[in-house]
Amino acid sequence: MNDCITLAHGSGGRKTNELISELFKKHLGNAYFTADDAAVLPRPEGRIAMSTDGFIVSPWKYPGGNIGRLAVCGTVNDLACMGAKPLYLTCSYVIEEGLPISDLEEIAAAMGETAREAGVYIVAGDTKVAGKGQVDKIFITTAGIGVIEDGVETSGKLAQPGDAIIVTGDVGRHGTAILLARDEYGIEADVTSDCAPLGQAVEKALEVCPEMHVIRDATRGGVGTVLYEITEQANVGIRVNREDIPVAEEVKGVTGLLGLEPLYLACEGRMVMMCPKDKADAVVEALSGCKYTKGAKIIGEVTQDNVGKVVMATEVGGMTYLPQPGNELLPRIC
Ligand code: MG
Repeated sequence: MNDCITLAHGSGGRKTNELISELFKKHLGNAYFTADDAAVLPRPEGRIAMSTDGFIVSPWKYPGGNIGRLAVCGTVNDLACMGAKPLYLTCSYVIEEGLPISDLEEIAAAMGETAREAGVYIVAGDTKVAGKGQVDKIFITTAGIGVIEDGVETSGKLAQPGDAIIVTGDVGRHGTAILLARDEYGIEADVTSDCAPLGQAVEKALEVCPEMHVIRDATRGGVGTVLYEITEQANVGIRVNREDIPVAEEVKGVTGLLGLEPLYLACEGRMVMMCPKDKADAVVEALSGCKYTKGAKIIGEVTQDNVGKVVMATEVGGMTYLPQPGNELLPRIC
């Protein structure tokens, strides 16, 4: 193979086949991975969740992951938010002419590894090559389906006053890691992205609390945006305790220097859950036993008053409104 992607790799001819058989099949191949026009899959029983997402992160790799791992986690986690066990993914690449093939290999390897970790099959894919400057290195779109456990129903509109609010780990890591990887601020800090597949954690949480009301991954816009979305969707208020919100010291350091609110920085491996208060400790305990949710904590509760607002109890004992989500702080983070 050539060392770089050329327009011929996207032509659908010999070069495309070479790429599929020598690179994608090696990393993404499984019993369902197809060379035909569509994958043929066993029919799952029960309700199905389906989701899709495009990934255009810059830079494409950063401490703790790359766009390949991100593209699998993003869709797998969206399915898990509906209480679905992710089954199958498709992936579509738009690659900029000139991308080193070794970069593509690194991305595909991360996708394969993450898919196997998440227990999901990548069953079909597409590759297009765009001319130089038409895209920035590589854009990936994944779509996925999962099957929802009987009796489980989660939705932002189901949050109820009295529900406990849980975050599954420390917030703001992914956004901070991307910001540092861009090297625009001259700050040196050791922050890795939280990007991770959370299907297993959701499964464990639902085992102890099948009546879970809300699960949402705090991606673009972070935990703060999720909280405001829920107040609108469910017509409730939210109260959180600043001192209970887990933020890693190194993230605190960077966000403090730049005057950023960690609650508004993206996560790619963190979820917000809302469940009846009497089940919250059991959910936290179940999450604490899973690889990527060891730092789960109760951070507040859903309230009847202050509808449409997120109220924050501060460390010094005061109350303040969390400012409404503003404009996109960092473009192209996920
Ligand atoms: Mg989501």
